Amino acid sequence: ESIITFDHVVKEYRRRSRGGGAIRAVDDVSLEINRGDVFGVIGYSGAGKSTLVRMINALERPTSGSVTVLGTRVDRLGESKLRPIRMKIGMIFQQFNLFSTKTVSQNIAYPLQLDHWRKDYQTRRVDELLEFVGLSDHADGYPSQLSGGQKQRVGIARALATNPQILLADEATSALDPETTSEVLDLLARVNEQLGITIVLITHQMNVVQRIADRVAVMSEGKVVETGDVYDVFAAP
Ligand code: ADP
Ligand code: ADP
Repeated sequence: ESIITFDHVVKEYRRRSRGGGAIRAVDDVSLEINRGDVFGVIGYSGAGKSTLVRMINALERPTSGSVTVLGTRVDRLGESKLRPIRMKIGMIFQQFNLFSTKTVSQNIAYPLQLDHWRKDYQTRRVDELLEFVGLSDHADGYPSQLSGGQKQRVGIARALATNPQILLADEATSALDPETTSEVLDLLARVNEQLGITIVLITHQMNVVQRIADRVAVMSEGKVVETGDVYDVFAAP
């Protein structure tokens, strides 16, 4: 069952230089991502990976083509109608994007606050998430007191707060050393297996997709140049 469908999606940006034409960041991509998959999007910097994935929660809008998420076309949807869909899509980032002036608990509670959850539900949900990511002892600490791996675990807990069905991970391990990368990938595997959440993982690191992804799309110059099961795509010739 397809949970995310790209149909002939093109995204062009205007060049910043005077008289410049358009940059085609995503060039006629058609792709289906199935519910329950860990789906890897791999390619060099500038290949169009972030642009493609940011169209899933409509942070970017396609120039043409359609993007369907959880049965709804999101590409032309207004901001207010996007809200309930965005609540079902969590996102984590390379630089973690935590609030430095909020505690770990407050960071995780933030999406629940935005969604006006009752205070006692917020507390219960945050405790549950802290336990899931193994940071109960750091509830009242601040991001600056945490290691990179711990910060990303807070990012994951925050992304999971509203019980999303999809988690978007944009170079989520690229700022981490190999050992910490392994820990974060193990946690993402638990998110997929225990919580049944579909994960779309952008990376330029081949070992990351090989370790965790079921299926993969390889991007180059805006196009998906290859797609399939991770074992087939990376099989030795
Ligand atoms: P990747 O995630 O694979 O590194 P991106 O999607 O970030 O690739 O970028 C694809 C191309 O689009 C690059 O040439 C990049 O410079 C360009 N690009 C990305 N975002 C913008 C933007 N907001 N404005 C103009 N060009 C952009
Ligand atoms: P990454 O390559 O890790 O995706 P970038 O540094 O390319 O990150 O992009 C960071 C931000 O800048 C993104 O929001 C992206 O859309 C924007 N961006 C990237 N390239 C351009 C560009 N050529 N012009 C304007 N904005 C850009």
